[in-house]
Amino acid sequence: MLSCKEATRLASKSLDEALTPAERASYKFHLMMCPGCRHFRQNLLFLRQAGEQAKPMPPADTAPAE
Ligand SMILES: [Zn+2]
Repeated sequence: MLSCKEATRLASKSLDEALTPAERASYKFHLMMCPGCRHFRQNLLFLRQAGEQAKPMPPADTAPAE
């Protein structure tokens, strides 16, 4: 069983590169057992998505003041 620290590391890693089948299996198993890491993963995916959507937007300081 992974520690939460290890599961968190795999969650971040999975955004940038593919996990090995062994990593993915143990990570999925950890998620089934650990609501905290499920929550962490959801936040991570949400932030990632929000970041990607924000990229094409102009910087906030160019928006009209009102
Ligand atoms: Zn955990």
